[in-house]
Amino acid sequence: MPGGNTRTILFFDPFPICMTRGEGCRLQDADGHEYVDLLGEYTAGIYGHSNAVIQQAVIDALNNGVSLSAHNRAELRLATLIRERYPSIELVRFTNSGTEANLMAVATAIAFTQRTRVLVFDGAYHGSLLKFGDPPSPINVPHSFLVAPYNDAAAARSIIRRHAAELACILVEPMLGSGGCIPGDPPFLRVLAEEARAAGALLIFDEIQTSRLSSGGRQALLGMTPDLTTLGKYHGGGLSFGAFGGRAGIMSLYDPRRAGHLAHAGTFNNNVLSMSAGFAGLSKLLTPEALDALNQRGDRLRNGLNALFAEFHSPLSATGMGSLMNFQFGGEPSLAKTAISLLFFDLLERGYYCAPRGFIALSLPIDETVLERFLDVMRDVLRSRRGIF
Ligand code: PMP
Repeated sequence: MPGGNTRTILFFDPFPICMTRGEGCRLQDADGHEYVDLLGEYTAGIYGHSNAVIQQAVIDALNNGVSLSAHNRAELRLATLIRERYPSIELVRFTNSGTEANLMAVATAIAFTQRTRVLVFDGAYHGSLLKFGDPPSPINVPHSFLVAPYNDAAAARSIIRRHAAELACILVEPMLGSGGCIPGDPPFLRVLAEEARAAGALLIFDEIQTSRLSSGGRQALLGMTPDLTTLGKYHGGGLSFGAFGGRAGIMSLYDPRRAGHLAHAGTFNNNVLSMSAGFAGLSKLLTPEALDALNQRGDRLRNGLNALFAEFHSPLSATGMGSLMNFQFGGEPSLAKTAISLLFFDLLERGYYCAPRGFIALSLPIDETVLERFLDVMRDVLRSRRGIF
């Protein structure tokens, strides 16, 4: 593996951490250190580690054979549940990752509209091949992208109108995830929907992270109905997963009974382990009530952190929504990366694991007691770094 790494985001200087086991919301590294897992596998680990319900679902699936070479019941169960939770998803297809789901959604929009241009936003991350930051990624798929600033309704409107005739779709995260947990302003997101409709382009919501903000995703909170939605992460119960779906009139392009249908292959699209773990998680653990309670814990944590930062007159803040948040450094911009990195190591040293970029995704086993203790630890960090952050 180049640099000993097969997943770039996990690398940090001077050397990345190697975890050897996890249980509940606790992790243990190869040196035997223990951590509270505040990262939750970048949102895929919402159930925590080795949840008994997920374990049982995987064991049951394993006992019935994992490579059935055919349609199976588990895919139908999960598809049905997803359709129930997200009314905008009338038909769904599964993939192996969120990246793949977004690649498929964009390709579907291009095929459906017979147009070529794709509007995306600065700072957006839709997967390895769909990353729109600074500098531009040389390994993005070679679609004809237009990149607009996020949360700037006027700029988006003007770009959409200028390119209306050639615009296939708008791909947007309802909250920038990797871009720092910046919630999309509802008026901005509504302008995208209106302008997409007027232009005859499709609106695609990447809800791979934000779907956890309510049992119907951020779209339910906003009362919006995107044409296509992509899902991933925790929907596979912690196993590899992705999905894209939406209006029946669009998704039925993939109906194999139709002449001239589009083919979408993928050996593991319906693998029974992801399908079964995903169904067990959604149906038995991630009830709407459990999800709301998790997001309320997240809101309380973010408010608690921001109150602490204010008390210490710290340039730090925490942005985000519900169970997703990211530390921001409001001091000298050239120091931001270093400051957040220092905070990461300060927390790591005290036994709390978040992303090196300061991202936190809470999982179900993290309870109030764990969060109270974490706030105490943050207080200790702020005391020891007075004048720095
Ligand atoms: N979209 C968003 C919003 C994501 O956060 C991610 C993963 N961080 C992806 C797409 C890609 O998903 P995957 O890593 O499963 O390919």
